[in-house]
Amino acid sequence: LTEQGVDEFALIQRYFQRPAQPTVALGIGDDAALIDPPAGHQLAICTDTLVAGRHFAPDAAGFDIGWKSLAVNLSDLAAMGAKPQSALLALTLPEADASWLKAFSEGFFALAEAHGVALIGGDTTRGPLSITVTAIGMVPSGRALRRDGARVGDMVCVTGTLGDAAAALSGIDSVAMAMRLHRPEPRVAAGALLREHASAAIDVSDGLLADLGHVCAASNVGADLRDDLLPASEALLAAVPDAGIRLRHQLGGDDYELCLCLPPDNVTAAIEALAAVGVPLHVIGRVAAEPGVRLRTADGTLMPQAHSGYKHFE
Ligand code: ADP
Ligand code: MG
Repeated sequence: LTEQGVDEFALIQRYFQRPAQPTVALGIGDDAALIDPPAGHQLAICTDTLVAGRHFAPDAAGFDIGWKSLAVNLSDLAAMGAKPQSALLALTLPEADASWLKAFSEGFFALAEAHGVALIGGDTTRGPLSITVTAIGMVPSGRALRRDGARVGDMVCVTGTLGDAAAALSGIDSVAMAMRLHRPEPRVAAGALLREHASAAIDVSDGLLADLGHVCAASNVGADLRDDLLPASEALLAAVPDAGIRLRHQLGGDDYELCLCLPPDNVTAAIEALAAVGVPLHVIGRVAAEPGVRLRTADGTLMPQAHSGYKHFE
């Protein structure tokens, strides 16, 4: 892989090697990185791939691709209540384009530095553009927010608002909504605080109904949601006045908000804890014994499910 005669080792050094961080015993440059997990903690580890033409347009900005490739992983750590610590980056590139690599690495590190994440290794190969990030976080042992902890009677809540990213993807022209699509802000601080309050959590990537469906399946429960309680941004309310179309966007996914189940007695404290870090938390429904996720109007009428989530092999 060459950039005007620059080999991949020079490329890694130029774009991806940053000063050592104290949380990492050995970073980029050896056959593997070394980390010392702090006493009393478990490692939370996840990986996600972004493929050109599937997860982003082939002409998408390098900065945004770099940001989002890390953001989707930090969102998974947030949904576990884990604090991000480090990441690995497997990069497959059609060519070593200097301006693209510069923009990509700036986007990646903008988010990495905001969360104190060290890039500790990766792999660099030639081929169709594809980015795989593996993120490593720390969580006090036994305290992670899992999908299998929801109980009948829990309240279902969601952070922030839903629908901006899907609306931007559908072609609605709004800077605010485009930012939600291309530079999602993973709910890391909220996830850590919610360890004290939530019984189960997941991040909203494929779509609310599908993602909450995973929590329900893992917990052997179901859920009833109220369509009028799903939070929407001011931008979405203004751009999409039709409630039916707005609902489709709100169920469309790519929000990278957290969906939580909480015992009813914990809801007020959770809302207050998240308010302190500037994250709204909204009750959207309730956990029930009957399996499946149902969407109802305010008067209880069952709604046809508009969207059950993105599946790669259907
Ligand atoms: P190996 O041949 O042992 O797989 P590589 O030549 O792939 O080693 O990588 C050399 C070093 O650079 C390793 O420490 C690896 O983790 C790191 N590295 C390779 N590609 C990247 C990348 N895209 N981002 C960060 N670190 C990378
Ligand atoms: Mg390698």
